[in-house]
Amino acid sequence: MMVQYLGLKAKAGDCLLFYRMGDFFELFFDDARVAAATLDIALTSRGEHDGRPIPMCGVPVHAAEGYLARLIKAGHRVAIAEQTESPDEARARGGSKTLVARDIIRFVTAGTLTEDSLLDSWASNMLVALVSVGDAIGIAAADISTGHFELVTVPQGAFEAELARLAASEIVVAEGFESAPFGSIPRPRTEFDSQAGEESLKRHFMLPTLEPIGAVSRAELAAAGGLLAYLAHVGQGKMPFLKIPQRREVHDHLLIDQATRDSLEINSGTKGGRAGSLLAEMDRTITGAGARQLAADLAAPLMDRAKIEARLALVQWFHDAPLLRDAIRTALRQLPDIARALGRVVAGRGSPRDVGQIRDGLNGARTLRERLGVMDDRPFLLDQLLPTLDGHGAMVDLFTRALVAAPPTDAGQGGYIAEGYDAALDALRLAGRDGRQAIAQLEARYRDSTGIAALKIRHNAVLGYFVEVPAKHGDSLMAPGTGFTHRQTMAGAVRFNSPELHEEAIRITQAGGHALAAEAAHLEELIAFVLDRRDAISASADTLARIDVAAGLAERAAEGGWCRPGFVEGAELHIEGGRHPVVESALAKSGDRFIANDCTLAPDRRLWLVSGPNMGGKSTFLRQNALIVLLAQAGSYVPATSARLGLVDRLFSRVGASDNLARGRSTFMVEMVETAAILAQATARSFVILDEVGRGTSTYDGLAIAWAVVEGIHETNRCRCLFATHYHELTRLADSLDALSLHHVRAKEYKGDLVLLHELAHGPADRSYGIAVAKLAGLPPPVIARAQTVLGKLEKGRAETGGLAAGLGDLPLFSAALDAAEAKVDALREKLTGLDIDSLTPRAALDLLYELKRAA
Ligand code: ADP
Repeated sequence: MMVQYLGLKAKAGDCLLFYRMGDFFELFFDDARVAAATLDIALTSRGEHDGRPIPMCGVPVHAAEGYLARLIKAGHRVAIAEQTESPDEARARGGSKTLVARDIIRFVTAGTLTEDSLLDSWASNMLVALVSVGDAIGIAAADISTGHFELVTVPQGAFEAELARLAASEIVVAEGFESAPFGSIPRPRTEFDSQAGEESLKRHFMLPTLEPIGAVSRAELAAAGGLLAYLAHVGQGKMPFLKIPQRREVHDHLLIDQATRDSLEINSGTKGGRAGSLLAEMDRTITGAGARQLAADLAAPLMDRAKIEARLALVQWFHDAPLLRDAIRTALRQLPDIARALGRVVAGRGSPRDVGQIRDGLNGARTLRERLGVMDDRPFLLDQLLPTLDGHGAMVDLFTRALVAAPPTDAGQGGYIAEGYDAALDALRLAGRDGRQAIAQLEARYRDSTGIAALKIRHNAVLGYFVEVPAKHGDSLMAPGTGFTHRQTMAGAVRFNSPELHEEAIRITQAGGHALAAEAAHLEELIAFVLDRRDAISASADTLARIDVAAGLAERAAEGGWCRPGFVEGAELHIEGGRHPVVESALAKSGDRFIANDCTLAPDRRLWLVSGPNMGGKSTFLRQNALIVLLAQAGSYVPATSARLGLVDRLFSRVGASDNLARGRSTFMVEMVETAAILAQATARSFVILDEVGRGTSTYDGLAIAWAVVEGIHETNRCRCLFATHYHELTRLADSLDALSLHHVRAKEYKGDLVLLHELAHGPADRSYGIAVAKLAGLPPPVIARAQTVLGKLEKGRAETGGLAAGLGDLPLFSAALDAAEAKVDALREKLTGLDIDSLTPRAALDLLYELKRAA
C-alpha cells in the first residue's frame, strides 16, 4: 500500500493527497500534519515507514466537502485519489490479497471549484493563466463554475491592473515568468506554447478556425493553452464548462490598479471583506448571478459610450417604472442559480437537483420573457437580450414531466424521476411497494403463528431483511421445523431468516435495483439534453443576471435619489450635489446628514487644489468624485443631482497613508511608489485623486515633493486631478499654473470650538485649524495652551523670514526645468549621433566617456 501511496503522492506534487480507504479519505506524513492542524482533527499514526510511525488523519467521505472547503480557504490544493475498482474486481484480478487500484481522479484547487458549498454565490471564482510572449503578456481567465472565459493581451509590466480587475482565486504562470504574482503556481513552459494553444482551443470548442473568437494574439493563444492544459491536469482529462472565449482589449474598460481599488474600497472594504465596500453599498441584486455580474461591472467600468448608454437606458427604464421593477424583482427571487448548476452538469458532477434547478430557472425565464415582451417602449439592450430567453420551452416541459418537483442532490437513492413519466419505471416501483406490503403482512402472520408480539421484520445494509425477536424468545425460533434459520445474536435480540422473507426480499431488491438503473438512464438523457443546449442555457443565465443588475441599480438609485449621468466629448467633469454613497449611508445610520458638494473640472481648471482642516471632508470629497466616475462608466446612476463627464481612461487614487507594512515597505515608500506610477501612467484622459502627498516625510521634503508633483501633473500628465493638501504654501502655485484652481473645505470657530462644515468653497483656506482639531480630539487643555504659544512664536518667525516657502519666489518654472532636461538629452544625443566610432583611438574614446559622464 505504501508503494501505491507514495506513487500517487509523487503525482500529487505539492497538493495534499486525499487517499480513499473505504468510507474515509486518509492523509499521511506531512499532509496529515498540515491537515490535522488546519482542520483541527486528531492526528494518529499507522504502521511504520523507515522505522518511524507514519502520521495519519482522515475525514469521512460523506463530509469531505466541508473539510475540502476549509483546506482550500487556508490556501491548500488537494488531490483526490479514488478507488478505481471494487474490492471484488481486485480479487478477481489477482487473488484475495490484491490491493485495490487507486488513481488521482481530480485536483481540487481554489480556482477550479464548482461545488455550491465551496463557492460564494455572489462572487465569481477566477482562474488566471499568465505568460510572457515577446513584448506582450497574454492573460487567459476562466470562471469554470459558470463557463466564463476571456483573453487579453497587455504590454509587458502592465498586467497588474488586469489582475486586479480579475481578482483571481488562483493564478498559474509559465515557468520562469518574471515578477510572478505571490502564490502563483508555475507550470511547464511547454504548456504555454502558442501553436499548441491554438490547437487546444480548436479542439476544445470544435472549431475549424479561431475566426469566431476574433484576432487572437500569440500571447493569448499561449495563455489559453496554459489554462486549458492546467484544467485538463486538474480534472485529470475531464474538462469543465467553458464558453467560447471573449477577447477583451485593455482599452475596453477603465483601467484601475490594485492600489486604487484598495483605496477606493471598490469590491472589498478596509477589512478585506465585502462589508463597507462600494459593491456592498450598491448591491440590490436578487440572485447570485446578478451579484457576480455587478461585481464584474464595477471591477471593469466601460470605455464605450454607446454601451454605457445602453446599460443606463435599461436602468432608467426600471427606475421610472417602480411597479414593473418590483414585479420583476419578485420573479427573480424564485430563480435558482442556473449558471452554476450548468457548470456542475458540464463538469460531470451534475445531480438531479442541478437539472431541476436548470428547469426551474429556465421556466422562470420564460415567465419573465412573456412579461417583459408585452411592454412597449422597451430599451434597446432589453430588445437585444430578450430573445436569448427563448427556445427552452420543449426542454422545460420535458423536464417538468420527467423530474419530481424538488429532486435530491444525491442520485444514489433514486426517487427523482416523476411518477407517470415512464410506465416501466412505475411498474418496478409498484413491485417494490407491493413487496414491502407483502413483508408487512408476513410480519403480522409470523407474530400470529409464533405468538411473539414483539417480533419485527427489519432491514439493514449488511443483512438485508431479517426477522428479529427479543433475546428471551430466541430459543423458541431456533428449534428445527419452525422454518426460521438463525443469522445473528445480538445483546438483546436474535435475528433470523426465512424462505418466504428471502423470496420477498429478492423481489424488492431486484425491483429497486432495476428502478434505480432506469432512473439513472433517464437522468443521463436529461443531462445529454442540457449538454446539447449548454450555450443557449448559459446565454439565458447571463441575460437574467443582466436584468437583475439593471433592476437592482434602479432600486439603489431610487432609494438614494440618484441621477442618470450624461457624457460629453471633452476631458471634463461637472458634478452638482455629489455625495459619497458609503459615507452617506454610514452617516444616515447615526442620523447625520451628508453635505453634498459640486465639482467642476474643465481644460481651464482641470486641477483642483483642496485645502482645509483635517477631518474637514477632503478625502471624502476626492473619493466621491472618483466613485461617481466609476459608477457612471459602469452604467449606473450616480449619487448626485446632476453629473456630466468625458470618458476617463484610467482612474488613480492615492488617498491616505495606507498601511502596507506587511509587504515590508514603509508608508512613505509606498506613497512614493504609487505616486510614481501615477506620474508615469496618467494620460490627459485620466482622472487622478491625490491626498496629502508628502505627508510621510519631513516638512521640507514633503512640501518640495508635493510642489513638484502638482507641477508634474499639471504640466506633463495634464489629467483631471483633485489634490488635497495641508500645505498652505502650495496655494502659491496658482500664480504659475493656469489650469490650477484653489478650493477648501469650510470650517469656522464658534464660541471657541471648531465647527467642520464639510462644505467646499472657492479659494485657499484662511488657516489650518490644526490646534482646533487637536482640541476637538480631546488633547488636554495645558497641551493645547502650550501648542498655541509655540504656534504664536512660529508664526511670528514666519512673518519675519517668509516661512517655509521663503525663497520660492524666484523658482524657475517647472516647464523651464523640463525644457532644460530635454535640452541636455538633445545635446547628448546630438553628440553621439555625430560620432565616428571607428576613427576614435582608445585614448580619445576614454576621454569622451569622461566628458559624457560630466555632461549627464
Ligand atoms: P479629511 O480628509 O479632510 O481629513 P475626511 O474626508 O476623512 O476628512 O472626513 C472626515 C469625516 O467627516 C468623515 O469620516 C465623515 O464622517 C465626515 N464627512 C466628510 N465629508 C462629509 C460631508 N460631505 N458631509 C458630512 N460629513 C462628512
